[in-house]
Amino acid sequence: MEEKKSFLKQKIDLSSPNKNIVPITTAIGNDGKLSVGGCSIEELVKKYDSPLYILDETTLRNSCRAYKQALEKYYPGKSLPIYASKANSSIFMSNLVSSEGLGLDAVSEGELLTALKGGVPNEKIVFHGNNKSDKEIEFAVKNNIQVIVDNDYDLERLEELSNEFDRDIDIMIRFTPGIECHTHEYIRTGSFDSKFGFGIEYLNILFARINETKHLKLKGLHAHIGSQIFELEPHNDLGGIMINVILEAKKFGHNIQQLNVGGGLGIKYTENDTPPSIDEWVKTISRSVMEACKKHNLDLPILMCEPGRSIVSTAGITIYKIGAFKEIPGIRTYLSVDGGMSDNPRPITYQSNYSACLVSNPFNLDSKKKYTIAGKHCESGDVLFKEIELADCKTGDLICVFGTGAYNNSMSSNYNRIPRPAALLVCDGEAELIQKRESPFDLLKYDVLPDRFIKQN
Ligand SMILES: *Cc1c(COP(=O)(O)O)cnc(C)c1O
Repeated sequence: MEEKKSFLKQKIDLSSPNKNIVPITTAIGNDGKLSVGGCSIEELVKKYDSPLYILDETTLRNSCRAYKQALEKYYPGKSLPIYASKANSSIFMSNLVSSEGLGLDAVSEGELLTALKGGVPNEKIVFHGNNKSDKEIEFAVKNNIQVIVDNDYDLERLEELSNEFDRDIDIMIRFTPGIECHTHEYIRTGSFDSKFGFGIEYLNILFARINETKHLKLKGLHAHIGSQIFELEPHNDLGGIMINVILEAKKFGHNIQQLNVGGGLGIKYTENDTPPSIDEWVKTISRSVMEACKKHNLDLPILMCEPGRSIVSTAGITIYKIGAFKEIPGIRTYLSVDGGMSDNPRPITYQSNYSACLVSNPFNLDSKKKYTIAGKHCESGDVLFKEIELADCKTGDLICVFGTGAYNNSMSSNYNRIPRPAALLVCDGEAELIQKRESPFDLLKYDVLPDRFIKQN
């Protein structure tokens, strides 16, 4: 029988972690068991319990450096990679990306606060969102955080604030470039029919409108065309389109100096995924901006990009403990784990696929069986894997799911009043807590029983 090569035996690309399924420090110990960052996963679960989120520091830093180095290599002008913090927002993540020289993008007061607490310098933070509150906009302006204007409502309020404070405010505008890319409908944002940004056909009106304000200075242009993108073509087109917009804005007297191309580079969740490397992606976007600038004799703008998933996803794994089995003869065997859609809502939301293995038998050495891995929530759709081949497993065994660093913890919920897992950082054989495990008591903290009900009982 032909042995299918386990994804764990594939050569690891150190310089572009998004091209691997596993964190780059993943190893199989002498005991045949899985380790990450030099830490035995079994030992970590003994100490910290399950489910457990784990982030590998080496993979995180390599991803940040890949963006910085590629920009320095391919783009002769100034540049700044900005971490899209919605992928995984925490004081730790803010601190880590900032220590690597990256900026950070935030879309709410909560993400802004987290960035500031994590030590990201105000001038390296950008503030996004299609429905910012008054309080959020004011907070950003007062803290000198650049606001990315998404719509007329943003513009009106920024104009009012700039008049009130009687000072100039630099703004960036977000527009939809009308680029289609092949990704899930919910995470596609660059086509005309999107809730984000100004339509490209509306920009001339907008440029004139900004000129009517006393204090708003249009300094930057932003577009983000989607997420988990494997093609280079859309970003190649984007550079040219954005330079055309800069030229158009010039006619209205606006001198746009910052060009922010958003994020979107995909990662390898399964063997079927073939994302380009960070290097190739940055090269494509840099070339397209440089060529368009050369053609139109334009100075190079400051180039910014906003990777989220490709910074943090591959660095993250989730460990679950197997509980109940249910065999439906001739149909399938359900294996239930101690987490599910509350710690990873992506499968139920986007039908996302992942790769996984048994911690104690990563290569599936013994007999292989097909399983359906179900979460513990009261929802038939709470299934993490429809069908996966694993070694024979039993109650109490641990399963490691790869590629969960992005949009898992940040999209998690307390559905069924299930507390959020703890999160650890691993590096060089040491594990450190970066998020405490919630307890069911924490979940009671915001419940209020009106007095008259207390008296009644
Ligand atoms: C989501 C988002 C990103 C990050 O996208 P990834 O696919 O995770 O790289 C960047 N910019 C904006 C405006 C976003 O909404």
